[in-house]
Amino acid sequence: MKSALVTGSSRGIGRAIALELAERGYALAVHYAGNQEAAQQTAVAAEEAGAAKVVVLQADLSQPQAASELVGRAREALDGLDVLVNNAGITRDGLLIRMKDEDWETVLATNLSAVFRLTREAIKLMMKARWGRVVNVSSIAGLMGNAGQANYAAAKAGLVGFTKSVAKEYAGRNITVNAVAPGFIESDMTNELPEKVRAEYLAAIPAGRFGKPEEVAKLVAFLVSDDAAYINGQTIVIDGGLYPH
Ligand code: NDP
Repeated sequence: MKSALVTGSSRGIGRAIALELAERGYALAVHYAGNQEAAQQTAVAAEEAGAAKVVVLQADLSQPQAASELVGRAREALDGLDVLVNNAGITRDGLLIRMKDEDWETVLATNLSAVFRLTREAIKLMMKARWGRVVNVSSIAGLMGNAGQANYAAAKAGLVGFTKSVAKEYAGRNITVNAVAPGFIESDMTNELPEKVRAEYLAAIPAGRFGKPEEVAKLVAFLVSDDAAYINGQTIVIDGGLYPH
């Protein structure tokens, strides 16, 4: 039985990843920032789906100490940690000339620096176990750029370089570090977009639809499995053909 921490698994893509891993019998740490009720709902659904064990952990990952401590808390609660999925992420969109320092700092702290701290702690455990999997949830915004998302795209592009570097450092210990870069996926994050913007994106997606969180979850579940042992340092785009690269 393997154990996994999925950050930001109270809602959206993270919840779908948690449930996919639950179906595969993992012991799971469900993590949230402020939405305790949603996290509890994920936990109940994960137990019903077949998770070996489920714990719920709160942490505001914009805070360095909270990010540094979360992996240790998950390891203690689950009695080990084999898989880390860095999924939690936020947006603070706005055009560059109007972007406040705080919007930049908070997005970089939550979407990039927290991943550094979580991964640093997780890799220490995985090195001892001589097996591990890390998946970072980036975005096509980090690859193609997106007007109004200079902060978010910088953080998500940062994850791509981070993933490649860490993958090279620990490949010899059966540890892989990969990223996924979703396009537009149905979630609270995309539901908040103005209708006009949603329609424009939809028109640009060759598949003719937004993706489903479950589709991203299946990809992540494969990347953390034994079957994906020879995939390392990659950023796998899942976007209905919007941005092939
Ligand atoms: P949601 O907004 O639906 O969920 C965000 C999750 O992150 C929630 O679990 C939330 O917890 C958690 N979170 C928010 N703020 C913090 C914080 N300060 N500290 C810790 N956790 C926090 O997002 P999605 O499911 O849409 O996105 C998940 C990931 O996928 C993100 O990294 C996002 O950037 C990425 N992505 C999403 C795309 C999309 O189209 N939806 C496209 C490309 C990438 P709580 O419920 O407690 O607030």
